[in-house]
Amino acid sequence: MATHTPDRVLSTLNADGSRRWLRPKRSEGAFWQKRRIVAYALMFVFFIIPYLRLHGKPLVLLDIPRRLFIILGTTFLPTDTLLFMLLFVTVGIGIFLLTALFGRVWCGWGCPQTVYMEFLFRPIERLLEGGRTGTLSLDRATGLKPRRLLKWAVYLVLALFLAHTFLAYFVGIDQLVHWVRSSPSDHPTAFFVMAATTAAIMFDFTYFREQTCLVACPYGRLQSVLLDRQSLIVGYDVHRGEPRGKVEHLVPTGDCIDCRACVLTCPTGIDIRDGLQMECIHCTQCADACDQIMDRVGKPRGLVKYTSRDQLEGKPRHLIRPRVIIYPAALLVAASLLVYFLNQRRDADVTVLRGIGAPYSFEADGRVVNQLRVRITNRTDLPHEYAISLEGANGAQVISPENPLKVGPGELRSTSLFIVGPRTLFHDGERHIDLKITDGVHTDRFEYTLVGPEHDDERPETDHHTDKGQDR
Ligand code: SF4
Ligand code: SF4
Repeated sequence: MATHTPDRVLSTLNADGSRRWLRPKRSEGAFWQKRRIVAYALMFVFFIIPYLRLHGKPLVLLDIPRRLFIILGTTFLPTDTLLFMLLFVTVGIGIFLLTALFGRVWCGWGCPQTVYMEFLFRPIERLLEGGRTGTLSLDRATGLKPRRLLKWAVYLVLALFLAHTFLAYFVGIDQLVHWVRSSPSDHPTAFFVMAATTAAIMFDFTYFREQTCLVACPYGRLQSVLLDRQSLIVGYDVHRGEPRGKVEHLVPTGDCIDCRACVLTCPTGIDIRDGLQMECIHCTQCADACDQIMDRVGKPRGLVKYTSRDQLEGKPRHLIRPRVIIYPAALLVAASLLVYFLNQRRDADVTVLRGIGAPYSFEADGRVVNQLRVRITNRTDLPHEYAISLEGANGAQVISPENPLKVGPGELRSTSLFIVGPRTLFHDGERHIDLKITDGVHTDRFEYTLVGPEHDDERPETDHHTDKGQDR
């Protein structure tokens, strides 16, 4: 019995297993026009953000070496674990909701891979090498491909520009300009990062291309979980289109004339008529291509269109369904918590810890010494001096090697603190005090319990410590 051997297993593999290089034909329909506006607007936003400042701070700065992250003018420090978690949860639920409502709209309209491939690198390739055939690249007289070399040179310039812009998000535009003007040997690590990013961009847009979406990106593989039957997809109306056939055959057929324009324009090389596929990035190129064909054969547009799986089966569209209620509710909770905890943040994080070793000791004159450690994180963008003093402990004094403690912007510093007071300060071996820490504008008070001798006749065996109180 003859067996059917499929010509192609994957859209980008030939039957012999070699790479099938895609040169999709551009379809300049209504969706393409809108996507082009969105794409160039997004590129502009990406290029301009490193130059923008808000309240004197960069709009976005992800300073990994200093572990300081500024997002929309708000500074996050590594100690903001809860805020980071809430931020990621909020973004994650937002992606779930966006996908449930609008399918892979991010992939087709907003993802940098699609935006830069289809609206920057691919147009340059078409310009220099020609469209689907790429025949312009070959100089028949010499057998060389000077236009391909020119394309790679232009790609390299673009990749360098994109890599530098990308780097500016991590080091700030001023630092980047300084590095650009100095020798790479002055900043070898930064130069290596920039070179590696340029190489990755070149690899992606010259070689890997649609494979990023097909094999590297996890988002496409989550579609079966994130989409439901009511989610917006780009789909082929099989009831209207089938049976497909050429118009000249004069046999009654569906509206699909099997021209394959939708396949030739697809950047991932698939056939939308095969149904919803993981490889489909919902770029709407097939919808634009088919609309142009429908115009030519005098049939209504929309054989390939934005729709849902239920709509394709003739079922009504339901906007209200469990996941579009649950996701917004969860998003509201996560975003509210994020805003609440953001507003609760202080300008400084202060931690008071008991010192290492014995809980208290005696001075030569009999006074009792408690050793503390104070850690202060300055969350502001200006240096501050934090003065530490006592309240509620008459006769006691604070001794510190540095008081006030100077802490730079975003910096964490700690200092030792000795609280020295008469033994009459203590009742039953304890004394409750308030530790006051102020930068002159904001004041924080911390309740703290000093420990000391329980009995007046207790004497130290040495001047510096007693075992008493170690069990406390
Ligand atoms: S472009 Fe439209 S008519 Fe042509 S093959 Fe695709 S679905 Fe059929
Ligand atoms: S099938 Fe259509 S929407 Fe999907 S990737 Fe191909 S051209 Fe874009």
